[in-house]
Amino acid sequence: MKVSERTQNVPPSATIAVTARAQQLKAQGIDVVNFGAGEPDFDTPEYIKDAAIEALKAGKTKYTAARGIVELREAIAEKLQNENGLKYSPEQIIVNFGGKHSVYEAMQAVLDPGDEVILPCPYWVTYPEAIKLAGATPGIVTGDKANSYKITPQQLKGAITEKTVMLVINSPNNPGGFTYTPDELAALANVLEGTDIVVLSDEIYEKLIYGDTKFVSFASFSEDAYNRTLTLNGFSKTFSMTGWRLGYTAGPLEVIKAMARLQSHSTQNPVTFAQYAAVAALGEPAAEAIESMRVQFERRAKYMAQRLNDIDGVICPEPTGAFYCFPDVSSHYGRTINGAQINGSMDFAKVLLEQANVALVPGLPFGCDSNVRLCFACSIEQITKGLDRLEKWLKG
Ligand code: PMP
Repeated sequence: MKVSERTQNVPPSATIAVTARAQQLKAQGIDVVNFGAGEPDFDTPEYIKDAAIEALKAGKTKYTAARGIVELREAIAEKLQNENGLKYSPEQIIVNFGGKHSVYEAMQAVLDPGDEVILPCPYWVTYPEAIKLAGATPGIVTGDKANSYKITPQQLKGAITEKTVMLVINSPNNPGGFTYTPDELAALANVLEGTDIVVLSDEIYEKLIYGDTKFVSFASFSEDAYNRTLTLNGFSKTFSMTGWRLGYTAGPLEVIKAMARLQSHSTQNPVTFAQYAAVAALGEPAAEAIESMRVQFERRAKYMAQRLNDIDGVICPEPTGAFYCFPDVSSHYGRTINGAQINGSMDFAKVLLEQANVALVPGLPFGCDSNVRLCFACSIEQITKGLDRLEKWLKG
């Protein structure tokens, strides 16, 4: 059957080969340490599950407004006001099927063929595909390793062309594990002041920050920034709710309305009883539930980065946010390890998995072939076991 050009041009996820092979090895009874999956290892807190069950029992099983129930949009508006200092009305908020869907819909709502989007590198793999599916082109700007892979205001300025329509900012960052400081973000915001450039600020990891890292929302810098920013967030990471598929976007009314029109003809509303659970998630016990997970991630972040830096030829900035270490392992490229040639991050991930049974994600699909990504959403024991294996393998 005919397959559209548009979808033919979407590449299969370059990380899938490693994940599929890890699953195959596991099925054969091999003990694989998995640093691949980008999701919290904690279960969804009980109070959220209870709310979903109650909603189901109360018959919350029908369609809702395409953009989500008003109670949830009110709860999100309150959260954005109290925690982020952002004043959005419930009409300026749309609930989507996960943050991934928010990204896709936002790109569809803003971009036209020929438009350019400034995409700092390393980037989350979904952004370039969502940009291209909207007919636009990613303009990649690579952050300097010496600057923890963050882009500078000079780089941003230099990347703007007359076709630039959007900038994507993701802080805390997947895969980089870095977080822009409030000053750094303010300097980027400054470059864009007075322009028409839309900022897609992906704040999905906002609660997972470590040490003295401060989080600040991009839209909070000025009225001008607020008027040009789409603030994107979700429940997957903060509340360990990846399978519930709940994300949201807040921004200028005309864009949110455009997203709602699109949503009404594609997915319709996010799952009804899940929306009620999300109202509960944002309620009273939230801070406590989030903090208990955050503290454990912080311990793991420190430990994993330290262990990685102790390995010869591996350089890893300590993560300040999200749940990823993104070490530079390129000093090992060109080597032959136990008979296998390592010529880049794809080889590194593949051969490590085959020879030492550790799954991690190559940096190439994130735009950074010098690096690999290790997710520390697993126990300290697993981290120890996996890094012992990695260390030993690299000595081979
Ligand atoms: N943004 C970033 C940067 C992410 O890493 C992810 C999850 N990998 C998402 C958005 C979307 O998550 P979800 O669709 O589960 O809400």
